[in-house]
Amino acid sequence: MILLLFDIDGTLIFTGGAGMRAFSRALHEVFDIRIDGSDVRPDGKTDPLILREILASFDLSGRCRPGTRQEMFALYIRYLEQEMEKARESGRIAILPGVEDFLPAVSSESDFALGLATGNLEDGARVKLEKAGLYGYFKFGGFGSDSEDRTELTRIGIERGMRYVRPDSVDGVFVVGDTPLDVIHGRNAGASVIAVASGRYGVRELQVCAPDLVLSDLREAESIISFMRNGRGSISCNKW
Ligand SMILES: [Mg+2]
Repeated sequence: MILLLFDIDGTLIFTGGAGMRAFSRALHEVFDIRIDGSDVRPDGKTDPLILREILASFDLSGRCRPGTRQEMFALYIRYLEQEMEKARESGRIAILPGVEDFLPAVSSESDFALGLATGNLEDGARVKLEKAGLYGYFKFGGFGSDSEDRTELTRIGIERGMRYVRPDSVDGVFVVGDTPLDVIHGRNAGASVIAVASGRYGVRELQVCAPDLVLSDLREAESIISFMRNGRGSISCNKW
């Protein structure tokens, strides 16, 4: 079996800013601060780490206590539901190129099991993917709610995947992500990494981190699937 763990934002979907709006609303309500897009660079980071960095930048680190954090994230999930629903209704959720063909293709292969390795909280991942109509593909995962550290949450996701399929049946683990941090932490967690330049980073920026494969997007499912089965080698699709 091959375990295949996906990042969400910039890899499978763009939420049209819904995630950041929900985060900002919750921050304002709990900490009375206002952020805009320029305050935060969320790419590849976990939700708890993003919160920690924002509070530090407002000199509010002392208020990052467990109870307050829990309150903030409960509100965030409630607002995320609302913002994602608005984004869905207005057609602002973008499913990234190739994803709608790649997910059914790879899930119909009996030697692949699909999961998530994402900095989103588990509930946030569920809300985003449900509203995008993709949630049903993923059977296990590691999340920002498991650990603030992306290597650790990726390891947790892999362990859950191994339990899902039977540990002795696993002969490959791939992480798919769109940022240099996805590549670095995926590799640190012991996975092979496929980087897709469908988020904010280009092919060259991702190549610097030396993933096992860099693609412009997830089109050409058959070539990507056979690359993973072979575990290495060159791929002819998605030339840049
Ligand atoms: Mg991402």
